[in-house]
This record gives sequence, C-alpha cells and structure tokens, in this order.
Amino acid sequence: MRTLQQQNFKNQRVIIRVDFNVPLNDSQEVTDLTRIQAAKPTIQHIISQGGSCILLSHLGRPKGNDPKLSLSHIRKSVSSVLGLPVDFCSTTIGDEAEAATKSILPGGVLLMENVRYHEEEVSGDITFSKNLSKLGTFYVNDAFGTAHRAHASTTIITQFFKERKCFGSLLEKEVLAIEKVMDKGESPILAILGGAKVSSKITIIESLLDKIDHLIIGGGMVYTFTKALGGKVGNSICEPDYCEHALELLEKAKTKGVKIHLPVDVLAGDDFSNNASQKTFDVMEIPEGWEAMDAGPKSQTLFNDIILGCKTILWNGPMGVFEFPNFAKGTIAAGNSIAAATKEGAFSLVGGGDSVAAVKLFGFENKMSYISTGGGAMLESLEGKTLPGIAALKK
Ligand code: AMP
Repeated sequence: MRTLQQQNFKNQRVIIRVDFNVPLNDSQEVTDLTRIQAAKPTIQHIISQGGSCILLSHLGRPKGNDPKLSLSHIRKSVSSVLGLPVDFCSTTIGDEAEAATKSILPGGVLLMENVRYHEEEVSGDITFSKNLSKLGTFYVNDAFGTAHRAHASTTIITQFFKERKCFGSLLEKEVLAIEKVMDKGESPILAILGGAKVSSKITIIESLLDKIDHLIIGGGMVYTFTKALGGKVGNSICEPDYCEHALELLEKAKTKGVKIHLPVDVLAGDDFSNNASQKTFDVMEIPEGWEAMDAGPKSQTLFNDIILGCKTILWNGPMGVFEFPNFAKGTIAAGNSIAAATKEGAFSLVGGGDSVAAVKLFGFENKMSYISTGGGAMLESLEGKTLPGIAALKK
C-alpha cells in the first residue's frame, strides 16, 4: 500500500478525491461535518509538507448542473473545519480549471465543483479522467465512501499518475480496519449482524462464515430464520422466500464450525410504533397481532456473554427498531457490551449504514475501535469484494 507518509508533497499540486457528499438542509447548509472532519488529517499533512490541495468530490446524484448540489455551498464549512482559507473553482475540467489549480500557492486549498455535474464521472470515461488528471501533479484517494465505484475520479484517473498516487490517511485506516477483521483478526472473531432484511445480508453472511467463529443474528432478520426453524413469528417482519436460504446458511455455519446465536426472547409491540403496548415472548412463540421489534432481556445477557468472550468484533445492523426509543434497549445493550469488550482489548469495527447511526445516537462513538465512514463500500468489503478504487491505487 502506497501511504501518505511515504511521499514527499513539497511543491506538488495534489488532487485529493474526498468524500464531501454531506447532508444539506433546505437553506443549503451543511448539517453534519463528519465527512469533512474525516478528510482533515490528509489535507493537513499535505499542507504541512508544502503541497497544495485540490479537493475533488461529488455531492448527491445531480442530473446535469443542479445548482442545489453545487459544492460552493460547502466551501465555508470546509474552510472552518480546516481553519484555512478555501477557494472555489466553478468548473471541474478545461483551461479555466487548470489555470485555477496552477495559481494556488503551496499550502493553498482549492475546492472544485461537483464532479458528478459531468455524466462522464459516473461512466468512468477515460478522456474525462485524463482531463481531470491535468488538475494536479499527484493523486491521493481519501474517499472510502466511493471506493466501490469505478468512477473517473475514484478509479480511472489513477492510471495517469503511475507512481505518483497514494492512499489518504482515512482510506488507509478504513482498509486496515477491514483487514483486521477479514484477514488478520485475533480469535475468537464475532460478527453481529442486524438490520431489517436477510435478503440484503446473505452474501455478507456467506463471506463471513469463512472468517469468523461466532455470528449473532439480530434485528428483523431473525424472524426469517425462526420461521424456517418452525417458529411462530406473529406480525414480525419476515421474508418467507428466504427461509430455505436461511436453513442453508445455518447448515453451512455448522459445517464450517461457526456458532450462530439467535435471540431467545424478544420484545414485541401490538403496533409498529414507539408507543405500542409491549410484551416479551419466547423467540419461537410470537403470537398473531404482535410484532417483534427488539431483543429481549435474556437475549441481551446471552449476547453480552458472547461479546465479552471475543477478541475481534464486527457490528453491522441494529438489534431492533432503535429509532423507537422504547425498542432501542437491545441495540444499546449490544453497544454497551462491545464498548466493554473494546475496553478489555478487543478490536471492534462498526460499519455499514444504520449501526453507525445507532452508535452515534447512543454515544458509543469513542468507545469502539473503528467506525467506518463508508456504507456501500463497507458492505462490499464485507462481502469479500475487491473495491475498484482501492485496487487501482495499488497498481
Ligand atoms: P439495515 O439497513 O438492513 O441495517 O436495517 C436497518 C433498519 O432495520 C433500521 O431502520 C431498523 O429500524 C430496522 N429493524 C431492525 N430490527 C427490526 C425489526 N425487528 N423489525 C423491523 N425493522 C427492524
């Protein structure tokens, strides 16, 4: 892996592909700075060495030059996070853009317009990629969130930089954290998979069965498994078409020596709402009219014991409908157990969508070893896929 630390950026004009796909409110103000903050170490490092930074990102999925999705809206936020003046260039390729990048002095920062204003970005057009490469003398990718896309600015552009390209520090951290679970995890290795549907997690479960010792299944996925095993699921979310698949996964796990843990009891509501009446049931005995929305107290204790016994922990997907405070206990309990295991020296990685949101909501952010910034990219990594943006940087 070519890292930032191995390079000399003095007088280099460095194109940094960042992931500034940040949420904006109706007044086009940034409502969450996390992704900008995450890119700061790489930008600071390059500036400290006397390089200049040309920041390239997408924002949303614009159809053409949609002014609502202009990166000009985030310039001030980037400047305040970095504590530096940041210029903005309203074109992405061509004479004007190249002139703007050449005019920044060492230590300067230039934010380019939304790279997805050009449809050639998404199609990975080679001429567009070549034109983008003319903006700088060195290329750094720090956008894990788009590393699973073979787009012009994330992948195709790398061929124009031969040795003059490297991982940004965020991307490096993401890759090392995933490796620590998928290739170099200390045993026992545990994956905790929750979330809504089995169908969206089957490839992940299959890929993980070769790497892990324990698998805790939580969230709405549980009821496809219990139905397949002959249980009553009441009104709980369930994918009957996947029951067969669920049984195959249980069988595969057995052959590979992976212990699968399902909840033993569940907290159900008589309606899909926070204020629903609540009752605890055996996981196999959920009556009609009741919808399981959280892990029950016995399950929380069971999961706690397993989590505390593991040295490497991956968490993807909440244990229940954590958005309803009355059904968030199972997710909070899992977070507490992972935090305790981490304190005792386990490596914990949280990644992919809603588990990250839950970790932030319940204040576990500083209690996990690593929280991934990439949703889709993280999920594809867990499926065992090589991400095109990462493969291209290694060439
Ligand atoms: P995913 O994106 O697959 O990780 O799913 C996350 C979503 O799963 C969250 O919005 C949760 O509310 C939802 N979820 C978790 N447990 C359940 C459940 N028992 N019933 C319905 N939805 C659930």
